[in-house]
Amino acid sequence: MSIAVISTGTELLKGTVLNTNLAFLGRELGTLGLSIRLALIAGDREQELYTACAEALGAADTLIISGGLGPTRDDITLDATARFFGLELEPHPELVEKVTAFWHERHRGRVPGQVLRQARAPRGAAILPNPNGSASGFRIDTVYDSRPRRIYLLPGPPREFEPMAHASLLPELARSMESEGHEYTLGFLAAGEPEFQLQVRFEKALEGFPVELAYCATPAGTRVFVSGSDSGQVRNAAELARSLSGPWALPFGELELPAAVLAELGRTRRTLVTAESCTGGMISAALTAVPGASNAYLGGAVVYSNRLKHRLLGVPQEILDRFGAVSAECAGAMVDGAAERLGGDCAIAVTGIAGPAGDDTDKPVGLVYIGVRAGEKRSVEEFHFRGDRNAVRERSCGSALLMLYR
Ligand code: ATP
Ligand code: MG
Repeated sequence: MSIAVISTGTELLKGTVLNTNLAFLGRELGTLGLSIRLALIAGDREQELYTACAEALGAADTLIISGGLGPTRDDITLDATARFFGLELEPHPELVEKVTAFWHERHRGRVPGQVLRQARAPRGAAILPNPNGSASGFRIDTVYDSRPRRIYLLPGPPREFEPMAHASLLPELARSMESEGHEYTLGFLAAGEPEFQLQVRFEKALEGFPVELAYCATPAGTRVFVSGSDSGQVRNAAELARSLSGPWALPFGELELPAAVLAELGRTRRTLVTAESCTGGMISAALTAVPGASNAYLGGAVVYSNRLKHRLLGVPQEILDRFGAVSAECAGAMVDGAAERLGGDCAIAVTGIAGPAGDDTDKPVGLVYIGVRAGEKRSVEEFHFRGDRNAVRERSCGSALLMLYR
């Protein structure tokens, strides 16, 4: 099965609405081991939708179209798809009843013809109920370009789209996938090496394996996905790739560094505190975004100024004067101060220059010192990160968590 998605709505093209339906589908299909081959956005014009349909069906046999099923003039999806596939639209008794009831719950008098447009269905289509809105969804089995195709039409508002996808679309796709044979995927996070270096090594080592490799770079490292139809071969290939990733490869399935760090702390029954300067709480935010973080993460201090580094963490004034806040000495004093004053088995401290302007010393943008303590063991490392302010801060977070993890 190959899947394409068309999101409709001029607002998506203008950027006034974010295409969260596509992100949702990508995520949910991913958990089923399925992926989207092609995704397109079409404005609210018939011609654009025709173009998108033709393009999408050149790439896939299953097409999901979201949006444009409502009663307003810009809701053209139902009419346009019916015309594109040569299907007749006819009032559907069940839908007439539903749309009429929906109208009468909110308004008086006769249901306007415009509203009743939502009570039409393509002949032979299956109706997908929408408990949260007036427009229903449809599943259409048809033939296009001499091949059988399955088309799903779902309304655009996420509060309608997502529950309907969970109720009908996703379970149906899961079932058809099972009848076709599975694709297995194993993923892991490899850190400490650029994506292309990993890629070169893996592709050489895995030559001859019936698997496909996919990569996704994150500030904490590269996510590597190995997939194929033979589960044994997928596992062998993935284990080989992981063994070639050096000591910084996370276990299979642990693709998020904060969750992996917290799991490891949980396993070893240790607690963690943080002291952040240039990351301003990003490490704390990443950790607390993981459900159950409080089992291991106690909290932290955002010590942006020298004054707070001194007052809250007890960084000696002498260190700040002599070496500056962005120094190995300061990172060391911060991590000690955090461990002692905030009281954790482990501690992380970050101080650096995120840019765009440097501080008033000659230290370069991207210079970051990270201190990590685990019990009595302490290490401080110097990093030179490239990129803009956000990239430097993201990389600092990733590296800090990685230092603790390894
Ligand atoms: P309605 O009956 O509300 O008109 P509809 O099926 O016609 O439903 P649209 O008109 O396409 O849906 O979209 C309605 C609203 O849903 C949009 O204004 C937008 O806020 C939101 N929406 C549509 N598509 C998406 C999408 N892909 N991701 C996120 N939100 C979306
Ligand atoms: Mg609409």
